[in-house]
Amino acid sequence: MLSHMYRLLKGQSAFLALLFLLLSLTGVQAGEGIPTPEVKKINDRVYTLLGPIGFPSKENQGYMVNSAVLIGDEGVVLIDTGFSNEIGQHLKDTIAGITDKPVTHIINTHHHGDHMLGNSAFPDAEIISSKQCRELVKKEGYNWIGILKNMTGKAHADTRPIPAQTVYPQESRTNVTLQGIPMEFWVPAGSHTPGDMMVYLPGDKLLVSGDILVKKMIPSFVDAHVGSWIDTLAKIQKRDIETVIPGHGPLMTMADVKAMHQRMADLYAGIEAGYNQGMMDSEIRKTLDLSQWKKMKEFEGQMGININRAYLEIERESF
Ligand SMILES: [Zn+2]
Repeated sequence: MLSHMYRLLKGQSAFLALLFLLLSLTGVQAGEGIPTPEVKKINDRVYTLLGPIGFPSKENQGYMVNSAVLIGDEGVVLIDTGFSNEIGQHLKDTIAGITDKPVTHIINTHHHGDHMLGNSAFPDAEIISSKQCRELVKKEGYNWIGILKNMTGKAHADTRPIPAQTVYPQESRTNVTLQGIPMEFWVPAGSHTPGDMMVYLPGDKLLVSGDILVKKMIPSFVDAHVGSWIDTLAKIQKRDIETVIPGHGPLMTMADVKAMHQRMADLYAGIEAGYNQGMMDSEIRKTLDLSQWKKMKEFEGQMGININRAYLEIERESF
């Protein structure tokens, strides 16, 4: 009996050894199946890793965010880390293909899981965000793992929310030099979320916006203050910017920023006009011209929620 078990175990370990060899030969790793980021070089020190566009799914395993890679003197500043520890690791592997320098700093543009749950893959990096973002990661971080599980059908057992160590206050602009790169941490009044932080690189005329700016993907109003978001979009247009790395979708120009501002302002004005006529949000929806929004990914799943959120905001503020 014992010898039979021994033979079985021996056979099994030989099988595992063979499997391991095959996996290492084919390059199969923990991140297998996560889509490959589209790597775009903006200049010698700025790259972006563009993720797939759309909600988290079984196919993308939750990878659907953009990241910015700023290569400095001794290390890399990474802005936004993906929806899971595995995605963070996947981004780390991608960065290793661009530079030998380690990731020493992480910046989270806001507390949504797709932008911060990959932080745990960088245990040696200093994590930076707005103060409000840190509080929301502490409060809601684990909820985002639940959302990820539901949408991808995977456990993501090794994913943990890691809040920032270094934070910046609401409605502040702070000039900082990280790894020799001058940048401004711009914490606007709550826009896409109560704790947004944008990163502006004056020398590169570049803005890393988080989800305050998105392209081809419908923006989410779920945690937003739509009125101040529209104000922030106007303020962005006063800065000297050539390139925007948005939270989702392809790179943007100032013309794209202007178009998004106009779309958001028109939508808000339309909802407000309906509210003032005593209509419910479901009735208002029928009066709005949504042709521009319909072209965007996840329109069906998000537009009704967005109209409702803006409606509730207008209602709240008219008391
Ligand atoms: Zn996002």
